[in-house]
Amino acid sequence: MITYLKLKAYGKINLALDVLRKREDGYHDVRMIMQTVGIYDQIELHRTVKPGIAVETNLSYLPVNENNLVHQAAKLLMDGARIQDGIHIQLKKFLPVSAGMAGGSSDAAAVLFGVNKMFRLGLSKEQLMEQGVKIGADVPYCILRGTALSEGIGEKLTPLPPMPQCHLVIAKPGINVSTRYVYENLQADALRPEQHPDINGMVDAIRQQDLIQVAGKLGNVLETVTAKKYPVIEEIKDVMRKKGALNALMSGSGPTVFGLFTELGQAKAAYEELRYGPSSDLAKQAYLTSFFHAQQS
Ligand code: ATP
Repeated sequence: MITYLKLKAYGKINLALDVLRKREDGYHDVRMIMQTVGIYDQIELHRTVKPGIAVETNLSYLPVNENNLVHQAAKLLMDGARIQDGIHIQLKKFLPVSAGMAGGSSDAAAVLFGVNKMFRLGLSKEQLMEQGVKIGADVPYCILRGTALSEGIGEKLTPLPPMPQCHLVIAKPGINVSTRYVYENLQADALRPEQHPDINGMVDAIRQQDLIQVAGKLGNVLETVTAKKYPVIEEIKDVMRKKGALNALMSGSGPTVFGLFTELGQAKAAYEELRYGPSSDLAKQAYLTSFFHAQQS
């Protein structure tokens, strides 16, 4: 019997994000290039004789009740399989919250994976992904991981060849952006054609393993809302480009910004500038990392 599991819930960035239309159910149809990155939350699962789901986290402002996505993930599978035992979930957040890095979705994905394993539910990865979309549009991708094209509301996934490796600097300004606010304020119909990223072109560039072309095609329509409202986003992108980034972009609905670097020295210099240097007032959190490709195990 498995009584304990330790899991890593990796964050993602969007190398490209386009919004096609608003649907009648309130969701938006999107086309996104997703990429897992090397920063993660740590999740520990303890099987308990006492029934129920208990959540504990290192961030006092996060909910520990059914509003936490890890709680929802455990409940979805445990209720479905009529599990009698309980579970204690310890969540250590390292990913920035409300940041456009799918932290909550990735935590939920890791718990779905872990509960399936702990209670020997026998669900396939595809079945876990089908369950996951009930919690959030990005959850199926967080189960899949790697480089992928994401369509529909985010649940239609096409795996792509792994991105050529490079160095990644990620910085989050000290503002919180609600995903809902950004989508509600996006005027998708009013966007000029050049404001839409060339998703098909990026897919081709990834298939050709051409990092320079990928970098040239970074684009996110949600910047028209978030970066317009918060100039700090462009300021961080400028710092990264001045330090040698091939290019920089806001991830998801923001406000997190990432820059792609071929030279480790330049990536380190950008990271240090944003973390400790003259630009440290722009970024509340900064990370130096790379793309992540391994599967959940
Ligand atoms: P996305 O990239 O999918 O838009 P995000 O990075 O913008 O995600 P998250 O950090 O995933 O945002 O979630 C932020 C919101 O979700 C907060 O309001 C927070 O209270 C709630 N939440 C629920 N569960 C979690 C969790 N496990 N981790 C972080 N936030 C959570």
